[in-house]
Amino acid sequence: MPAQILIPFAILIGAVIGSFVNVVIVRLPRNESLVMPPSRCPACGTELHWFDNIPILSFLALRGCCRECGAAISWRYPTVEAGTAALFALAAWRSTSLTDLVIAWLFLAALVAVTAIDLEHQIIPDRITLPGIAVGFVTSFLGTRVSWLESLIGIAVGGGILFAVIVLSGGGMGGGDMKLGAMIGAFLGYKLALLTLFFAVILGGAVALALLSAGIRRRKDPIPFGPFLAVAGAVAMLWGEAFVTWYLRMFSG
Ligand SMILES: [Zn+2]
Repeated sequence: MPAQILIPFAILIGAVIGSFVNVVIVRLPRNESLVMPPSRCPACGTELHWFDNIPILSFLALRGCCRECGAAISWRYPTVEAGTAALFALAAWRSTSLTDLVIAWLFLAALVAVTAIDLEHQIIPDRITLPGIAVGFVTSFLGTRVSWLESLIGIAVGGGILFAVIVLSGGGMGGGDMKLGAMIGAFLGYKLALLTLFFAVILGGAVALALLSAGIRRRKDPIPFGPFLAVAGAVAMLWGEAFVTWYLRMFSG
């Protein structure tokens, strides 16, 4: 498919999937069904019309307020929709086959949901990461990105290193992070899983330092690691291979 058709198509799919990811973000931590009932305003309970439920556009048309009661709609909704759309477009640009692209979309949608849920609730739901590990491994047989063996080693490496961190640090990082690491390893293989951990530690360290020095967080306050893992995983999926190639060329003379 030519890029001028594929990219707008990816943005459209991404916005629609992003809208579903919003439902997952709200309902999964409460153990509610993802399909029923239809979306409602959390303030007044009014069921949303289809035309008030269009990704990004409805938020803009309503100027961020419920049509019925005027309550403010969270910025998270358009942010997640636009973010997913942008990631889906980047994946379309970076993928070499439709199968690889669909696998990348599954991975990225899961990462967006994990990021928002961890930021809001400080948990990484097993209901995303455990199926994610299975999907990552099974799709390794279909795509060209990683072999099933690289995926399997990736699960062990991504989960294993974070397990070691949990044991050695005595808390500070949770089992949810470990399962997320395993999921990233399943989708990306062990090489890019290692790169993801490297990126996540640098990114997490930089943000923690910035928050501490700005006085927004104190030394004892927990900062969730999941969002850094997720961002690093997305970066590794999109540019990891290119980064590794560049790095090896830089240092192999
Ligand atoms: Zn309302």
